[in-house]
Amino acid sequence: MLIFERSEEGRRNSAQRVISGGQQGQDERPLTGIPETMKRATAARLPELSELQTVRHYTRLSQKNFSIDTHFYPLGSCTMKYNPRGANTLAMQTGFLNRHPAGDAALGQGVMACLYDLQEILREVTGMEATSLTPAAGAQGEFAGVAMIRAYHDARGDSERSEILVPDAAHGTNPASAVMCGYKVREIPTDKSGDVDVDALRSIVGPQTAGIMLTNPSTLGVFERRIEEIAEIMHQAGGLLYYDGANLNAILGKTRPGDMGFDVIHINVHKTFSTPHGGGGPGAGPVVANKRLAPYLPIPMVGKSAEDGCEYYWVEEQERPESIGRLSAWSGNIGVLLRAYVYAKMLGSVGMERVADYSVLNASYLMRRLEQAGFTLAIPGRRATHEFIVTLKKESKDLGISAMDFAKRLLDYGHHAPTTYFPLLVPECLLIEPTETEDRETMDAFVEAMVTILREAKESPEKVKGAPWTLPVRRLDDVRAARELDLNWYNR
Ligand SMILES: *Cc1c(COP(=O)(O)O)cnc(C)c1O
Repeated sequence: MLIFERSEEGRRNSAQRVISGGQQGQDERPLTGIPETMKRATAARLPELSELQTVRHYTRLSQKNFSIDTHFYPLGSCTMKYNPRGANTLAMQTGFLNRHPAGDAALGQGVMACLYDLQEILREVTGMEATSLTPAAGAQGEFAGVAMIRAYHDARGDSERSEILVPDAAHGTNPASAVMCGYKVREIPTDKSGDVDVDALRSIVGPQTAGIMLTNPSTLGVFERRIEEIAEIMHQAGGLLYYDGANLNAILGKTRPGDMGFDVIHINVHKTFSTPHGGGGPGAGPVVANKRLAPYLPIPMVGKSAEDGCEYYWVEEQERPESIGRLSAWSGNIGVLLRAYVYAKMLGSVGMERVADYSVLNASYLMRRLEQAGFTLAIPGRRATHEFIVTLKKESKDLGISAMDFAKRLLDYGHHAPTTYFPLLVPECLLIEPTETEDRETMDAFVEAMVTILREAKESPEKVKGAPWTLPVRRLDDVRAARELDLNWYNR
């Protein structure tokens, strides 16, 4: 039931204040000074409910969700790991919550110290020169990084470079970011073992190449073994290397994109640095660059100065004339950044290595168990990084059961589905990422569910094809939901 269907005229929530002709309390006075043209002509039609009805409605809704707090959530490429409550508690301190973004820097020294420290941590973890925290998502970080590559070439008068190279396994945001920055996208093939086809790369690279976008480990869940050779090929041709940091969880504290030869990277802190995400937000996608690209980082950044009365200050255009500029109002998604900062401090360098150790160990364990249970790996013979791919091509052909059917049936067994049909080049695939925070029993239960579904697919396929059976909604028309999204209750 929608909240509007529960509404009854005149019902009041004690927190809702009505402005009437009579006595008005201190905080019930209408705002003054708003131009008439900007005021609405009719009152907003809000649902009218009691406070208790409202609480029950939203609590029930929340209980219909799959979430990391209630279910295993092995969504590949998304790193849905446990978000420690301690990080949340510290980031929710009233001093942080009540700070206005327009407030004077002198009044924000505490939060700026945290952000400065986070810049330093991310720089160190990636082996780079400087960090800007402002992009509000991984995708916006990509846009920033590619815009910086463009600014670099332009500043050198090297403006003939028109192409960005992207592997065929790449996340869709990579080509999209390149196109948003005015580049043509050239696809590079992957070889049989899951690596970039270096011979093909060699034949494609030239004076028209602005750069390449890679993630390592790749979205196929394997480590790009010839990355140094790729970096050399690119740099020799005058192109730059962009690192998509979505898979940083696998290498945290082990190896660094800067040491592999990358020039600029984004970090999905909501993935690797564990802030609650999913369902479209919230997030943050700090960009980190080496010496060559650092001057182009988006502003503002947090600077530290010993001279002034204030230790920390906002670094703006005057100090960074070559910056690509601002990407968000104010200074980024600070709530997410603070959680990431506390999480990073909780881990320390030893904890970060442990993240990589256990995320890889868990993925390897789950991969082997599924392989032993008869499932086909997309890239057999390679070590799993923090994620791996099962292909259900055979099951789909022999039994008529698709990866989507498996995904929907998993929901009945209490597991969020892995990522389906991505990367695009692997047919009928599940991209599975258990993360380091899961225990062995949970992974064993997942294997058991997969085995059960495989048996059902043979013995009673309608059970799988009709799933989910136990959830509030059955199969949704997701194309229609995306193309004809209608969120307006009153216009029905
Ligand atoms: C999640 C992801 C992105 C995009 O990041 P957002 O924060 O969702 O914008 C880019 N590349 C890869 C490989 C990803 O997994």
